[in-house]
Amino acid sequence: MEFCSLGSGSSGNSFIVKNNQTILMVDCGFGLKETIDRLERYQIKPNQISAILLTHEHEDHIKGAFSLANKFQIPIYLSYGTYQMCQKKINDGYQINFELIRNFDSFMIENVLVSPIPVPHDAREPCQFRFDCQDKSIAIITDLGKITKHVVEKLSKVNLLVLEFNHDEKMLNSSDYPDSLKKRINGHYGHLENKESLKLLESINHLDLQWVIAAHLSEKNNHIDLVKKMIFEIVDKKNSNVGIIDQELGLEWVST
Ligand SMILES: [Zn+2]
Ligand SMILES: [Zn+2]
Repeated sequence: MEFCSLGSGSSGNSFIVKNNQTILMVDCGFGLKETIDRLERYQIKPNQISAILLTHEHEDHIKGAFSLANKFQIPIYLSYGTYQMCQKKINDGYQINFELIRNFDSFMIENVLVSPIPVPHDAREPCQFRFDCQDKSIAIITDLGKITKHVVEKLSKVNLLVLEFNHDEKMLNSSDYPDSLKKRINGHYGHLENKESLKLLESINHLDLQWVIAAHLSEKNNHIDLVKKMIFEIVDKKNSNVGIIDQELGLEWVST
């Protein structure tokens, strides 16, 4: 399987999982034109996308999803809670095929087994996703306030892990963010702090983990070099590659 990202961070998130002709887009947090432009960087035409999967209703994950799905007739997979929270964003004239998913039930899209992973986050019915095909697996985990046993279990033996490294606790606390926002980000329904992400990584680190890719870094309260250094201290350097998804530049194709 292959993976790339159009970009990740609070200004927009979008990830691509590819297996032969099957191209799955996880979240579409950039506007329509921006999404099409960014897809072109990875030689993807919008009408090649098999499905869009949405993790939750926050704008940085859905911004261009409905216009893209309508224009190119791409089905959207999402939970009922996410669908409800998005209704105001779906124009009356749009014709979109919505597939409602249950957060504990796996399903197939062509040859790829898709497993939603419910996460604690301040959204109606959020989930993240794991993809399995033949003997390879990719998981994308962003936007979660804390690590749960279920998340750890669902990441067992994953080959390519995209994981949120949202912020550095000290940087966030000394930032000029209002206290209410600091509290939200730090809380159990907010985002993972670097050390929490590392803890999750440590608990699933194994020989088959070929890629660790950090995502959803805060532009103000985190630093690429800091995250890289922290990950390199933990992962097995002989087996694992490390990547960081940039908000503007995304991440080039990698494969497992
Ligand atoms: Zn987000
Ligand atoms: Zn969110």
